Amino acid sequence: MTATCDFVRIWEHVSSQIEAHRDTLNDLDRKAGDGDHGENLSRGYRAALVSLQDRPPEQLADGLARVGSVVTDEVAGTSGFLLGSAFRETARVLTTAETLTADAVGAALSAAIDAIERRGKARLGDKTMLDALIPARDAIASLDPAASAHVALQAGAKAAREGAIATANLIATKGRASYVGERGLGSQDAGAVSTALTLEALAAATR
Ligand code: ADP
Ligand code: MG
Ligand code: MG
Repeated sequence: MTATCDFVRIWEHVSSQIEAHRDTLNDLDRKAGDGDHGENLSRGYRAALVSLQDRPPEQLADGLARVGSVVTDEVAGTSGFLLGSAFRETARVLTTAETLTADAVGAALSAAIDAIERRGKARLGDKTMLDALIPARDAIASLDPAASAHVALQAGAKAAREGAIATANLIATKGRASYVGERGLGSQDAGAVSTALTLEALAAATR
């Protein structure tokens, strides 16, 4: 599939949105973890942007695969490991997609979820990024499969945001946040919030 849109421009928007929320994400991660999630993600996304600008990808899937490799290389810690493979898996799915429909976006998110679940062993309700990604995928699955990628990302982003907000009511059982347990109640999961931000930025940039 050829890129139906300019992925470098899209990624520029995603990267700048994460950078704009870096401190918020650090603060959320500080409440339950080690306070570096905003730093980790903005560094990884920015490095991916520099790589994409240096050598623009010919296809959307190539762009996403590059983001995956750079995030894996640049981001130490859990999120680099999990998100790096998630982006690479979405790229694999989108290589074979004929057109970028809601169906393809949903399949890409499913592949990301599978990769994260396989490596991180967390499930829905464990207060992780999956609590934003799984509702996003489910919301997209209820759309007309032929709907546009923008419509799909918009619906996915809305569900991800609701999912992230709802993580405030969850007790973490995976990752560093599990050490905090009930003391984390009332505070949203940093990775779920960054997932909502990423999907919101993708939706805005594909309008
Ligand atoms: P680290 O915990 O190594 O400092 P980050 O702070 O960048 O990494 O990322 C923390 C986020 O990673 C959490 O907010 C959570 O959403 C996500 N996370 C942690 N462990 C898991 C897991 N096992 N499965 C899915 N997501 C996880
Ligand atoms: Mg952290
Ligand atoms: Mg860390």
